[in-house]
Amino acid sequence: MITVLKPNTTEEQRMQLIHWFEEQGVTVHESQGETYTVLGLIGNTSNIDAEMLELLDIVEKVTKISEPFKSANRHFHPEDTVVDVNGVKIGGGNFTVIAGPCSVENPSQIREVAEGVKAAGAGMLRGGAFKPRTSPYDFQGMKAEGIELLLEAKKHTGLPIVTEIMNANHLPLFEDVDVIQVGARNMQNFELLKELGKTKKTILLKRGLANTIKELLMSAEYIMAGGNENVILCERGIRTFETYTRNTLDLSAVPVLHSLTHLPVVIDPSHATGHADLVEPMALAAAACGADGLMIEVHNNPAKALCDGAQSLTPAEFAALMNKVNKIREVI
Ligand code: PEP
Ligand code: MN
Repeated sequence: MITVLKPNTTEEQRMQLIHWFEEQGVTVHESQGETYTVLGLIGNTSNIDAEMLELLDIVEKVTKISEPFKSANRHFHPEDTVVDVNGVKIGGGNFTVIAGPCSVENPSQIREVAEGVKAAGAGMLRGGAFKPRTSPYDFQGMKAEGIELLLEAKKHTGLPIVTEIMNANHLPLFEDVDVIQVGARNMQNFELLKELGKTKKTILLKRGLANTIKELLMSAEYIMAGGNENVILCERGIRTFETYTRNTLDLSAVPVLHSLTHLPVVIDPSHATGHADLVEPMALAAAACGADGLMIEVHNNPAKALCDGAQSLTPAEFAALMNKVNKIREVI
């Protein structure tokens, strides 16, 4: 349930009402807009009579919410959330591109790619250290050493780093990581999500291969319910009957998510398409339909990449993409 307070409500009246709500056993999530204060009631609201509430002098409007996601719900928090990662902002009109290799492979590779993507205008550096591979015989990532190399690249370029976690036991290794990615395969690893909810790290939550938008929001809710509201959502393609592309990029998820949630939404056209030559057109489409950012795989030598070379751009191709994306951003 949502209660919108009238603009002239005093601090005392507001606190009195919040206190009364809490006595009814619900948690109150307060969002202060420019004119109105919105009180989101989380929990069992069956004891609260919406019609009675609306009769109060200080209440503008009461809305009952049936969606099971509360913290992520735009009703409770009408303004876009702006996630700030060491000064790099995403959401609410701030567009950020995250770029880097699928996997960190060696010191010169990550350094070269980091320099290349920074020069082209990327706001953050990505790189997998723990890799979720379909085959146990494929390269599994450099693990702790990969994170060390990312931290060196961060020191060298100043770019905040994004890397994937697969096991909550690894959290101590992520202490200096700026954004922790939860990959598509772990979107519904609820125990992992709960642990991440206890941290204050920004979490980049990728949509699962076969998950609905609502399920993505419920997973975000797991993180937010624990007290961590720094969540960025990522659409990376879903599995359909189409086989030409690696996945099918659901771009309609961008406007749908924007209507349902205040959280920023980024698009990953690399994993969505699986082909380097399809990355740019889909990145442009993502910028055009209002995404808050992009996540793009870039490798200094895609043909020799240990993972996802076919969908990786060279730094030069990435720079060309950035030019065009910036033009689309200007147009919209
Ligand atoms: C990745 O970003 O490297 C990755 C494994 O992505 P996804 O979880 O979307 O497959
Ligand atoms: Mn990849």
